[in-house]
Amino acid sequence: MGKSGIDKARRARLDILREAALHRHVAARLPEGFNGRWTRRQWAHVSLFATLAALVAAIVPGFSDSRHADGIAPAQARTTLALSLPPLSVAKLRGHAGDSWQIVHVERGQTLGSLFEDMDLPAATMHQLLEQPGAKQALTRMKPGTELAFDLPVDGKLRAFRFDRDETHRVEYTFDGDKLTEKVIERPTESRTVVISGTVGKSLFHSARKLGLSGGAINTLTDDIFKYDIDFNEDVASNDRFSVVVEQTWRDGELIRTGPVQAATFTVGGKLHSGFRFERNGKAEYFTADGRPLKKSFIRMPIPYARLTSSFGSRRHPVLGTVRQHKGVDYGASTGTPIMAAGDARVQFVGWKGGYGRAVILDHGRGYTTLYGHMSRFGEIKQGQKIPQGKVIGYVGMTGLATGPHLHYEFRINGVHRNPLSITMPPPEPLNGAALAQFRSQTSNALARIQSVEKVIYADAGAPPKKNKKA
Ligand SMILES: [Zn+2]
Repeated sequence: MGKSGIDKARRARLDILREAALHRHVAARLPEGFNGRWTRRQWAHVSLFATLAALVAAIVPGFSDSRHADGIAPAQARTTLALSLPPLSVAKLRGHAGDSWQIVHVERGQTLGSLFEDMDLPAATMHQLLEQPGAKQALTRMKPGTELAFDLPVDGKLRAFRFDRDETHRVEYTFDGDKLTEKVIERPTESRTVVISGTVGKSLFHSARKLGLSGGAINTLTDDIFKYDIDFNEDVASNDRFSVVVEQTWRDGELIRTGPVQAATFTVGGKLHSGFRFERNGKAEYFTADGRPLKKSFIRMPIPYARLTSSFGSRRHPVLGTVRQHKGVDYGASTGTPIMAAGDARVQFVGWKGGYGRAVILDHGRGYTTLYGHMSRFGEIKQGQKIPQGKVIGYVGMTGLATGPHLHYEFRINGVHRNPLSITMPPPEPLNGAALAQFRSQTSNALARIQSVEKVIYADAGAPPKKNKKA
């Protein structure tokens, strides 16, 4: 940008600031991209959730223990009171009366240096800031979205600068010539365990997002907890309902973080499915109410959106033309479709294997192995590596003896080929002993309580729920 360009930008900025100073209503506009805080209308709604939160926090005491494992400081106060309607004070958002705060959100690739340059502020001022022991670390490694505030009066000289050192500390520096005064503002957070409940509507994702569930939490429902019991493409209807227990962290009336799904229910066609989070050997898993893992030892079909094109048993080989046993099943899918590990495993073989072309063999322990053939390319795996169920091990192709792109999948027990579509898969290890006792104490009655919460929301829980009214 040339000198005249900078002048122009500077003049434009000063005009805006002057305008703001002359007409306070201009300043009263909320900052652009304002989305973190809730409107009054949303606050009115939250009182419903807050009431439910109180209910759950009071009756599911076990969940309050689990957050220690999530790394959330146990010292944080747990609020179980209903939320009151906070004043939406513009003065509070913008600083104080008579000031001229500009709020900036750091964009990807932006540094403090480039920001200062964009705002036409002297580098010396920035260095003055970076010399402060409490500022350097936070300001040199800023994530996109980080909020910074500049107090820029009409004369264009930086009067004060504000940033968040961490989640609970906001730091404000006031410039007075060469002197900088630091003020640290404590911003306490509150954790609340809430039940978020809704109906599927037109789209589970959209309905759940509207209720404040994160994309990650929704994925937990569809990919971790209910994946084995509910077909989200086929089974779910608009009036089916879900309830999710999560811990939310709030600060100044702003939801800043949502923890993992602690418990969830999904009612599909009147049938209730439920899952509870519990850490076994330091690893979080989801279990049924009686402590059996929701995750199966093996996924029945290690490939999404495929059709069975050749089943297990005798058939004429499509390439060789001879009749022989087909020792696996074939799934037709387009080249590049990801192939997942059917179960937790150790990678036994990755490479070219005769007619199988590019193939992977996984050892799942207890005598179980699986083979995946004709891949176009491999996933990021190497021999000997331990991988979790669902890990992408390769992509559909037609290498080796194949007439078209498909996955050839074999399932062996102690070296003997079995039909993966008809054998009874080994059940995963249930919780037992001390772990089961701990699980029970954490989740006891939780399901019943979610149901009582649903009764509050739907009034007619059991019968088809009435349409979830959106205000
Ligand atoms: Zn085959």
